[in-house]
Formats: sequence, C-alpha cells, structure tokens
Amino acid sequence: MDSFAYRHHKLHAEDFPLERMAQEIGTPFYCYSTETLIRHHSVFCEAFTDRDFLLCYAVKANTNQAVIKTLADQGAGADVVSEGELRRALKAGIPADKIVYSGVAKTKREMAYALEKGIFQFNVESEPELYQLNDVASRLGKVAAIAFRINPDVDAKTHAKIATGRAENKFGVPLKRARAIYADAAKLPGIRVQGVDLHIGSQLTDLAPFEQAFHIAGKLVEDLRRDGHDITVLDLGGGLGIPYDQTETAPPLPHLYGQMAQRIVGHLGCKIICEPGRLLVGNAGILVSEVIYVKKGEDRNFLIIDAAMNDLIRPSLYEAYHEIVALEETGANPVTYDIVGPVCETGDTFAQGRTLPELATGDLVAIRSAGAYGAVMASTYNTRRLIPEVLVKGDSYAVIRPRPDYEDIIGLDVLPDWLD
Ligand SMILES: *Cc1c(COP(=O)(O)O)cnc(C)c1O
Repeated sequence: MDSFAYRHHKLHAEDFPLERMAQEIGTPFYCYSTETLIRHHSVFCEAFTDRDFLLCYAVKANTNQAVIKTLADQGAGADVVSEGELRRALKAGIPADKIVYSGVAKTKREMAYALEKGIFQFNVESEPELYQLNDVASRLGKVAAIAFRINPDVDAKTHAKIATGRAENKFGVPLKRARAIYADAAKLPGIRVQGVDLHIGSQLTDLAPFEQAFHIAGKLVEDLRRDGHDITVLDLGGGLGIPYDQTETAPPLPHLYGQMAQRIVGHLGCKIICEPGRLLVGNAGILVSEVIYVKKGEDRNFLIIDAAMNDLIRPSLYEAYHEIVALEETGANPVTYDIVGPVCETGDTFAQGRTLPELATGDLVAIRSAGAYGAVMASTYNTRRLIPEVLVKGDSYAVIRPRPDYEDIIGLDVLPDWLD
C-alpha cells in the first residue's frame, strides 16, 4: 500500500497532483510520501508489540535528512554503515543509543567517532575488526558494546548481488568459529559482548531463509549463554522484500515476519532489533520523468525519458523490475515501449516491452517503488545534475534536496597550476 493513486485520472502523491509538481519544479525528480513512510514504520513496529524491540532504519536505503527525521520522529533508531551515515542519523535527531553500526570495513577513525558519540552497538564482522576496535576503545578509555555478525551460510534466494548470508560472501564471521571468537572477545578490556547479529540479504520474498537463519542465531545465543556470555540483544537484520511487480505474488507482510521471528527466537528474552531499509522507504517513493522523444526502432518503440541510470541504477545493476505508469490515465491506445534514458550506455534501460497508453513528447511518467536505493545511488555520470527530492505531506510538499547548478558539479574540478 502506498499513497500514490489516481484521482480524476491524474496521479497524486497523497493529496497533491504530480503534474502540477512537475510544472513547478521541473523533471526528473524523486517524490516521497510522509504518510506511507509513517504507515510502513508503524506496521513493522506493530509486528513486534509487547516486546523489548528496537527498529533501526537502515539509512543507506534513503539518507535524506527529511526522510530520516520523519522516521526518527516516529521513534526509529538507525543502522549505519559509515561515519557519514552515522553523522546523518545523528543530525536528523536519532539518539546515539538507538544506533547500530554495521559494515565490513570500519576504520579506526570511524570507530573513534562512533565511540565518542556512544552508539548502542557495533556489529563486528571479523577478528581483525574486533582487535582494532578493542585498541581504539582502550586508547579512548571506552568500552565498545558489540554483537558479532554471524554468517549463517543460508541461501536468501534473492539476486546474487544482494545476497549476503552465504559462506562465499564477504559478510560476517563463520558460524563454525563463532564460539571461539566470542571467547576471545570476552577477554578484551575494550569490548563488552552483548549480542548476536545477522543480515542475510535484501529483497527476500520468502520467510523460509529468514526462519533458517533465525533458528541458527537462536541456537547460538543458547550456546553462548552456556559458555558464560551475557547475551541480551538479538539483531535480526533487514531484508524483507517489497512488491515491485503488482502481477506477482507479494512478499510476506511484516506481521507474518514478526510472528515467525517471535516463534523462533521469542523464548530467548533478548531485546530484538530489526534493520529494515527497503521495506520502509521503497514504496514510499516514485521517480517522475518527462518523455523527451518517442523513437521508432526497427521492431520496437523507444520511450526516451529524461531520467537515466545515473538517477536510478537498480534496473541496470540488479535487473530490477520497476512498474512504470503514465501520470495521466488518458484511455489512449495501448502501445508497447522499451523505456530508456539519455545516457550513452545500452544498460541505460528502465524496462522493456511495457504497454502504456500512447505517449508523446512532453508527457509525464512515474517509475514506482523508487524510494529505496534510488537517490542514494545516484551519480552525475554524463555530467547530469543530481535530481531533486521532494517530500509530500497531505496537500503540501517541500523540496528536500534541490537540483544543483552545473557550476556545482564542474566547479568541483581543480586545474593544476601548470594548466592554469
Ligand atoms: C542493507 C542492510 C540492511 C537493509 O536491507 P533492506 O533490504 O533494505 O531491508 C540492513 N542491515 C544491514 C547490515 C544492511 O547492510
């Protein structure tokens, strides 16, 4: 469910007509719905009521300050993977004691910053990281609260580029070595072991791999407690998928995910952390774009739009499916299009063989489910300006990241003095 629907045949974001927004700010742009963000957050939390539960929004999915602040105001914590994201989360008002820090390559500088801010937990992904964290914490006179991210070696059955829980992936510590590593960690003065963490991948559409992984994590908690560790936190990661293609069966809803999780690990009495990213923001955003040309190829029609792979890379990078709709329901003849952008790469294709009402230069389209891993992965490739982000609330909107000027991009380059 999202808040982008047709009223009188015109697509609206909540109560605001998107065509008018496009006239006012120009295309292309991202548009997010406050109502959808809040609803997704509350639906997820309701799946874990009556428990010691913390939702840590995986901010890498969408790091705009306004998006993070909207979720922070609902009580969300954050899962961050860099000092930059930690700074963004803190600046948007998420308290440090609701922040967990994941990622395979935390540097000394990043560790020191996070320790100074007093984050809730480091999710440690290797032994070298453990020893470095101990060094940094000891030097600062601090103690780092940690969980190890376990690699349970389960198949998440998602796209290979976003599967993270197999033995061959770079993430986490191998389950077989976990108990030995926890024993080592317990001896370190700069480390306090408090939890177990996992995250097996993204856009999972089936509960079975989660169930398998949670089972493994739960068993590990019991083993570790028997070994004498005080394990009070279980971080189940993110990864629950969202519907991108309305013609396919939808992924399981959060309440089923929550019920399953509590059935598998509820008896442990741990504080449960979940790190959803896509689920909160994916369907809370769309990308609005204008048709530049309609080009007749040898055997197909190309709809060339003003958004490109540099604005939304998911179709090129992950072969991702995004629903694409016309902003106006015209009732015109249906035509089948390949929908492409202006960038000089064949990979700059959003979709092939999509049937839409016949469109012409100047018409507007929306790429749906673009709120997660869209704007955050954008680049200025082909010297295209980053596109604006807009947040809607009811019948009003605000530009939450403006379109930069060309000079903002070109001006980053510096000529060496011998070329001046
Ligand atoms: C990316 C990531 C998430 C969020 O994944 P979603 O599929 O967006 O829910 C959560 N935890 C970690 C460690 C991640 O790297």
